[in-house]
Amino acid sequence: MQTYPIPMTPGPVMVPPEILAAGQVNYGSGDTEPEYLELYNQTEAELRQLFATANRVVIQTGEGMLALWGALKSCLKPGDRVVAVASGVFGFGIAEMAESIGAVVKVVPIPYNQTITDWQAIEAALADYRPRMITAVHCETPSGTLNPLERLGQLKREYEVPLLYVDVVSSLGGAPVKVDEWGIDLALGGSQKVLSCPPDMSFLAVSDAAWEIIEQVNYPGYDALKPFRTAQQTAAFPYTPNWHGTAALHVAARRILDEGLENSFQRHAVVADYCRERLTKMGLSLYPARSAIASPTVTAVNVPEPLGWPEFDRRLRARGLAVGGSYGPLAGKVFRLGHMGSQADLDLVSRALDVIEDVLKTA
Ligand SMILES: *Cc1c(COP(=O)(O)O)cnc(C)c1O
Repeated sequence: MQTYPIPMTPGPVMVPPEILAAGQVNYGSGDTEPEYLELYNQTEAELRQLFATANRVVIQTGEGMLALWGALKSCLKPGDRVVAVASGVFGFGIAEMAESIGAVVKVVPIPYNQTITDWQAIEAALADYRPRMITAVHCETPSGTLNPLERLGQLKREYEVPLLYVDVVSSLGGAPVKVDEWGIDLALGGSQKVLSCPPDMSFLAVSDAAWEIIEQVNYPGYDALKPFRTAQQTAAFPYTPNWHGTAALHVAARRILDEGLENSFQRHAVVADYCRERLTKMGLSLYPARSAIASPTVTAVNVPEPLGWPEFDRRLRARGLAVGGSYGPLAGKVFRLGHMGSQADLDLVSRALDVIEDVLKTA
């Protein structure tokens, strides 16, 4: 199998040995052993710090998408109104997911290369529509942008919207996420992005208001949140917990907290700046518009012409560098460098940029 000494895909990112080791232990059964509950509680406490919340954090087996689906299904009934703020693949995708489970969705569309600036459009949708839920995405990984969220929480309160649902899968740990301050009721995270674990776990901060609604909606299913409301008190999880995955998350969260959250944000910002400066100097153009906020965790770049994506990607891979392509309308047009978590490393990113420079020179 082909391996890449310079991994730069925006998830799954390189798993550090210390995290890998936590998943390679023969644990007992999380169903019956009190030690698992202790690990779960401890990991919950660590994730709370990453989310800057006093809310409960649910840890589920299954990658980020599981939490995205589970939170929608656990909180929405057919006919419920949703305002989806969408500026990329995930924002528009979440709107479609909510629709598919019967919600009535009003999308506030934003071009893929932009971030939220038109607060009036959002406000008008909330005033008209009086939704039960607002959905948004913090970092749109496929387009390398970071939406500002603070104002969304203020609008949620002003328009008395019960739930604010935010995908922070690829920002949490790499950019400030302030769940309580920003009034986020469902903050959704995944293991394979900044936390640098294998792609097998998800976790979400759930507000008291969200728990009330989860109770009323009473959704059953593998991805249901309801069983987690009492799981810690009764030591009864809805399925055999993934001890290995939880242990890896614990080590991963601990690493970020030991580094210091602010230091981690700073490391991501420094690496992102360095990456963009060098790419621009090479003559490449960044995908996000100048007026958009670029994410510190991922850089999206226009594919160099006339080389084109398949050939460019082939040449990078031949030199040991794996970058990410993109999705939806950006497929074939944009490539991405995921400098998040273990890959927010100046040395690694500089080696990746050397390869890109070399490929452009010989193109
Ligand atoms: C990666 C990602 C997801 C999905 O997470 P998986 O672990 O791939 O299921 C959701 N939202 C965003 C913004 C992501 O970057």
